[in-house]
Amino acid sequence: MDVIRDFDPWRDPLCTCPPKYGFNPYTGCSHKCLYCYITSYIPRAFDCRPKENLLRRVRRDIRRMDKLRVISMSNSSDPYPPIEAKLGLTRSCLETFAEEGCRVLVVTKSDLVKRDVDVLSEMATAVSVTVVTLDKELCRKLEPGAPPAERRLETMRELSEAGIPVSLRLDPLIPGLNDDHVEEIVEAASSCGVSHIVSSTFKPRPDSWRRVVGAFPELRSELAPLYFEKGMRHQNSWYLPLKLRRDLMEKVRKVCDENSITFASCREGFPELSTGRSCDGSHLIP
Ligand code: SF4
Repeated sequence: MDVIRDFDPWRDPLCTCPPKYGFNPYTGCSHKCLYCYITSYIPRAFDCRPKENLLRRVRRDIRRMDKLRVISMSNSSDPYPPIEAKLGLTRSCLETFAEEGCRVLVVTKSDLVKRDVDVLSEMATAVSVTVVTLDKELCRKLEPGAPPAERRLETMRELSEAGIPVSLRLDPLIPGLNDDHVEEIVEAASSCGVSHIVSSTFKPRPDSWRRVVGAFPELRSELAPLYFEKGMRHQNSWYLPLKLRRDLMEKVRKVCDENSITFASCREGFPELSTGRSCDGSHLIP
């Protein structure tokens, strides 16, 4: 397989995703989220560029893949960067997946996904939209290249009104920055038709740590001891202390329960808190 590959996040034993494929129509991502981890393994990670000869490569991979397995699009980029409005690469891939009966989980922060409602509503799909804050200024600072959160909420509403299942990624939660925004986000998502939420805490690597504390220097003295003294190192990332991570995930789960939304955590090690049939929302694909 060339561009549609087994999704295997560094063989992380904490990953609870069902077996699936990962597929990125673009290399790199222009959303430039401060907390993003792709800068640790993709050269020029915030310089988004289309993959060459993509459709030919996709068609070849489709002949070899297991069509019962979900294709997650995308985990190391957003399938709807601004240049997608002009290039239509993601749309062409979706049309091909639809013709071939492939099952697709679209993961995005962009309202451009609404353009493809006609294709999405005719195929086996679900859409996962990420929102980490509804605070306009914080959102602009944390995710400088991504559309504002209110447009993402509208997107969730329109997709779900079109009959497309929608989940929310409330990821990452960063103590002192957005951990107090959980209730507001979950309630807004609930009113937009979201039926599943997956959440996770910030797990910095050296580069994402530097970007986050560079933009929010006041967080350094609070977060550094939590990550580097009381927390733990897991693979190439630092984790918050176990109790704090569990408290944060239980907080999201409680608000999800109150809003009748299923919950899962991502790579936290608390599968017993899950109420959804999958962590990533792929169970919503019909
Ligand atoms: S949208 Fe995802 S891949 Fe793109 S910069 Fe943000 S976190 Fe990274």
